[in-house]
Amino acid sequence: MPGAKIVILGGGFGGITAALELRRSLNGDHVITLVDRRPSFMMGLRKLWVLTGRGTPGDGTRPLSALSTKGITLRQATVTSIDPASRSVTTDAGTLAYDHLVIALGAESRPDLVPGFSSAVFNLYDAADVERLAPRVKSFAAGRVVIGILGVPYKCPPAPYEAALLLHDLFEQRGLRQAIQMAAFTPQPMSLPVVGAAGCAQVEGRLAAGGITFTPGVKIDRLEASVAITEKGPIEADLFIAVPPHRPPAVIRSSGLQMTGEWLFADPATMRTSDPRVYAVGDVIEIPLANKMPLPKAGIFAESHAKVAASHIAADITGKRSSATFDGRGYCFIEIGRGQAAKVQGHFTAPNGPQVEVTPPSETALKEKIEFERSRLTNWFS
Ligand SMILES: Cc1cc2nc3c(=O)[nH]c(=O)nc-3n(C[C@H](O)[C@H](O)[C@H](O)COP(=O)(O)OP(=O)(O)OC[C@H]3O[C@@H](n4cnc5c(N)ncnc54)[C@H](O)[C@@H]3O)c2cc1C
Repeated sequence: MPGAKIVILGGGFGGITAALELRRSLNGDHVITLVDRRPSFMMGLRKLWVLTGRGTPGDGTRPLSALSTKGITLRQATVTSIDPASRSVTTDAGTLAYDHLVIALGAESRPDLVPGFSSAVFNLYDAADVERLAPRVKSFAAGRVVIGILGVPYKCPPAPYEAALLLHDLFEQRGLRQAIQMAAFTPQPMSLPVVGAAGCAQVEGRLAAGGITFTPGVKIDRLEASVAITEKGPIEADLFIAVPPHRPPAVIRSSGLQMTGEWLFADPATMRTSDPRVYAVGDVIEIPLANKMPLPKAGIFAESHAKVAASHIAADITGKRSSATFDGRGYCFIEIGRGQAAKVQGHFTAPNGPQVEVTPPSETALKEKIEFERSRLTNWFS
């Protein structure tokens, strides 16, 4: 029997995990091809270390080509269409036929959806913008800093609050805090809806203790340079750091696969889409929780989804059964400065609604966050 052709779209948390898991469980007759338009991988969490001058992008960037030494075929190309009917994917560098497909194309931050978004504002979720922002932060000595969430969903929901707390800590260490006013806002009714009122009280209490004015329920109409025009009035900033809303890559919509709202549908029991040969994992899908909120978009979940998808694909190929299913458990870090971090952790898909807590901050949790990056870069790329 000839080997199967497995194509994985996206070389982020989900795509890399799926590729490595499949390579571990299938013999070399089966060809695993990973497609990404980028030549390298860097975690989102590193952006906060670049922002605060604690790390460089280079320290956390690894070439995807390193995966080829592990028996994975790399294609650096942009996916332009997915056609489940003909089991093929078109890219700007040619067409790929597949027997099994994993879609792990992530979520894109979309500043273009915010009228007036310009270079007067810095996109916290864009690596190039964060590199442009870092020197501004370094020389910022007085004025008003605003961290604004401009729309939902966005990935890693605690990250904007982490950015606010880390900047507060940085300005305080430099003896500048008295001269700098800080504010954060979100369109949501509370800072982190998935953690509930008690968890939000911890996050918002931490912001308040740092003198960061937090305003929920702020819907912006447009930006005018670095001023947000909202229904509650203008929000002015000398330094405006924004989190734009996220959307799936456009190529998803034309695939004809079933959607959940704007996102791909995948069954959390198997990570299969509406086509039995196509799996989808990570930020590109939406999994509704028992309280109707969507599962937050986070690398840790993309990884768990990918392990489930890989197990079912390997079972499809080998004729064995897989009982792997996404268990909905996970965690995310909130760095709070002073060498500490808290964790948002729990059972997100619990039948009675998310059972998620914010842990007390500790130095141990910050060490875990650093290890989270280090261990994956080592395991995946060396
Ligand atoms: C500031 C920040 C902090 C974060 N902190 C954490 C954290 O502490 N813990 C955590 O778990 N998560 C964190 N995240 C979230 C995490 O980065 C994402 O949830 C995770 O990357 C999702 O994995 P994914 O595989 O679904 O998508 P991605 O990792 O985004 O990978 C998608 C890949 O698809 C590629 N792609 C997209 N479209 C195309 C196309 N048309 N053709 C070819 N290639 C394409 C992209 O280049 C990309 O490499 C953070 C994110 C940010 C921005």
